[in-house]
Amino acid sequence: MSGLYDLHCHSTASDGHLTPTEVVARAAGLGVATLALTDHDTVAGVAEAQRAAAARGLRLIPGVELSVLWQRRTLHVVGLGVDPQEPGLQAGLAQMQRARQERGEAIGERLERAGLHGARAGARALAGSADMTRAHYARWLVESGQVRGFEQAFQRYLRQGRVAYVPGDWVAMEQGIEWIRGAGGIAVLAHPLGYDLTGAWLRRVLDAFTAAGGGGMEVACGTSPQPRQVQKLGGWCRRYELLASVGSDFHAPGYPSREIGAAPALPEDLPRLLDALP
Ligand code: MN
Ligand code: MN
Ligand code: MN
Repeated sequence: MSGLYDLHCHSTASDGHLTPTEVVARAAGLGVATLALTDHDTVAGVAEAQRAAAARGLRLIPGVELSVLWQRRTLHVVGLGVDPQEPGLQAGLAQMQRARQERGEAIGERLERAGLHGARAGARALAGSADMTRAHYARWLVESGQVRGFEQAFQRYLRQGRVAYVPGDWVAMEQGIEWIRGAGGIAVLAHPLGYDLTGAWLRRVLDAFTAAGGGGMEVACGTSPQPRQVQKLGGWCRRYELLASVGSDFHAPGYPSREIGAAPALPEDLPRLLDALP
C-alpha cells in the first residue's frame, strides 16, 4: 500500500553528491513514495527536502545519521521521524558539527604533512557548505589522481592505522539515542553488518542498543544486499524484537546496489519500522 520507500540517504548537507532537492527529485523519478533524508550528524537539508517533497507529493521523513561511540567503536545510529527543531537535538548536533569540523581540519593537516598538497583546499571545495569528511578527502584523492579509487584512498591514507586517520570525537551511543528519542524519533541501528563485528560482538551491541532505548535496526540495506545477509539481519531483528528498517544509504548516482529505493525487500513476517512512523 505504502509503495516503494527508502529510509536512509544522504545529500550535500553531509557527504552526498546531490542537493536535497535533487535527491527528492531522483527519488520521485524512481517511483519512491516515502523517503527519509538522513545526513551525517545534521538536519540542515531537511527543510529543503520537505519543500521539494511537498511539491512532488512525496512523503519526506525527517532524519539524521549519528556517529556514536560504544566501547571505543564507531557505530551509526539513524534517527527517523525526528523534529528537526527540537532544542536538545539541535544542541547535540551543534556539538557534533564542532567535532566534525575539527576532525575535517585535522585530516587535511595530516595529508598535507604527508606531502599531499592541496588536500585541504580540495576537500573544502568538494564539501561546499558542509563539513569536510573522509569521503570528501577520498573524493579529492581520486579526482586528483593520487589513488585509483575510493577503496584505495581509505586503504592508503584514511582508515584506522593510516597516516591521515583521525579518531572521531563522537557522542556516546546512549546519549545519541537520547537525543533522537527526545526529538520524537525512533533510533535505528544502521547497516549492522558494516562494522566487521563477530556474532558475539553484534549481540553485545544489540544488548546495549536496546537497553538504551533503540527501537529499530536496518535489515534491508543497500550495503548488505545479498539474500543471505538479509536473512541473517532478519534473524537478529526477530530475536531483539526490533522494528525492521530499509535503507539504501544512497550517496551518489552510479552505485546500483545503493541507488535510492534499491535496497532489498524485507522478510514479510518482520514488523516494519515504516508503519511505526508518525
Ligand atoms: Mn557517508
Ligand atoms: Mn553509515
Ligand atoms: Mn549513511
